[in-house]
Amino acid sequence: MADTPPGDGAVPDTLTLENRATVALHALTNCIDEEDGRPYMTADLTGAPSLAHSSWDYGSSVGRLVSSIALAREMTGSDAGREVERDLRERLLDMFADDGLNYREASEHTEPRANMHDQRSVLLGLVTWYMQAGDDDVAAAADDLCAALRRIAVKEGHPHLAKQDFWYFPAVEYTADGWPSPDTIYLGLATDPAHTSARMIGPLVRYHEVTGNDDALELARNFARHTVEYSGAFNDDGSFNDGVEFRTGHFHSRMVSVAAIARYALADDNAKTLNWAATVYDWALRQGTEFGWFPSALREDYVHKHETCALVDMIELGILLGHNGYPEHWGRVERFVRNHLAASQLRDTNWIADGEIADRLRGAFPGWAAPNDFVCDVGDDPDIMTCCVAAGTRGLFLAWRHAVTIADERADVNLLLNRATPALDVYSYLPSEGRIVVHAHRDLSPLRVRVPDWVDPERVEVEGAATVGWDGPFLRLGGVAEGDRLAVEFPVRETVTTETAADRTFEATWRGDTILDIDPSGETHPLYAARDDDGTVSHRDDSLQRRWPTVEW
Ligand SMILES: [Zn+2]
Repeated sequence: MADTPPGDGAVPDTLTLENRATVALHALTNCIDEEDGRPYMTADLTGAPSLAHSSWDYGSSVGRLVSSIALAREMTGSDAGREVERDLRERLLDMFADDGLNYREASEHTEPRANMHDQRSVLLGLVTWYMQAGDDDVAAAADDLCAALRRIAVKEGHPHLAKQDFWYFPAVEYTADGWPSPDTIYLGLATDPAHTSARMIGPLVRYHEVTGNDDALELARNFARHTVEYSGAFNDDGSFNDGVEFRTGHFHSRMVSVAAIARYALADDNAKTLNWAATVYDWALRQGTEFGWFPSALREDYVHKHETCALVDMIELGILLGHNGYPEHWGRVERFVRNHLAASQLRDTNWIADGEIADRLRGAFPGWAAPNDFVCDVGDDPDIMTCCVAAGTRGLFLAWRHAVTIADERADVNLLLNRATPALDVYSYLPSEGRIVVHAHRDLSPLRVRVPDWVDPERVEVEGAATVGWDGPFLRLGGVAEGDRLAVEFPVRETVTTETAADRTFEATWRGDTILDIDPSGETHPLYAARDDDGTVSHRDDSLQRRWPTVEW
């Protein structure tokens, strides 16, 4: 048991997300080419390590980086890399054309074009930046982008209805001359909405919520209706339609869209659409592992690789559902965060032959990880993609933000992680000990603490609460006053599960919700290798900053 009580100057030495964000911020602000300020898209870490550019270096990478750098600052308060951030923000605005869309530069083969993946990432960057800084020129760019998206959307309606109530984009890339063919949907050449309109819905909804921009909500509503009711991109059982016109069932594109549609459903009080998202989530969960590894797509070699982007979509949707009638997903989100997200963050770089590249990418997240290895041994894709570095940071932020809910007098502890806020601090001894300590900084009525799904409720012990009851998976603690210190204790499970990823099986050894070992282990840069846990918790001579974000995702 702990010899020092937690509090100022002593934090249990367990997973602390803001510390992970500090090192992620390092990677986010160092994956840039100093020659011209353009982000690198990929890094290959084995053989002769190298960095490479691609056509994703424009709105896609820049928007995601601008967003995630802001999120890392919300968590840490760090000023590291301010100059790089300033350059990226300037670059983001510079890529806008007069028509309101954000363009990739012309290349040898193509004219300048506005890619729909880019428009979503650009909006993600602008909305996060605006929430943090409130700059008028940022809102102006976002307003213009919403107006442009509205202008170029193809608007259709059910033949029996008078109104045009589903909107979409007929192709992934728009040029100054317009769409390649405006009627592709009738020719059977329709693009997957996950690659065009559906993925934009999340930032559109947040932008509407923050500024009241009505174009943004109308776009979100009509894109969601197209995806759910007309596109055929998802089957009735929630599975992905991966027919030819829908490419390979790219997991990130599908799930970023479903998480976005859930966000829309909540903003528009659309319970039917929220249930649709929950059905797709249930199906998607069955395609991966309990610890957060999912295939990056449903075809070819991609079934063996995992994109951090897809994991973070699964975390985001799990959180949205956890808050809104599906509390059973909280335990799952915690397993995803404690395991594949935390375990795959690149912290030990000694195995990378090029010291300069290794140093730049400290804190990055993998682009194509195997369940047991940072580097996948199938195919020879690069090991890191900048989209995933940004997404991994977003995953840290989402877990950190939603670990605790504070609403009026009420506080919920949703994720059992160290977290300090102005209303309460949470100290977690998991996985070594089943012990959660809460310091209340004000009266809380009630304080609810989620208990993991593998705990026998009869064996939970509470110290320091006047009344104790249950609300589903939450312990409901009453009469908590400012200054109180409470403890919730329970036995920690130790178990071994067999997990299937593509056609391979792995044995995972768990303590609580944390994997201590995976068998077979990886060969290049094994995940979980450094996680020995002797069942005791030490304390760091440290204290957590009591932070609450100004940015809301
Ligand atoms: Zn990615």
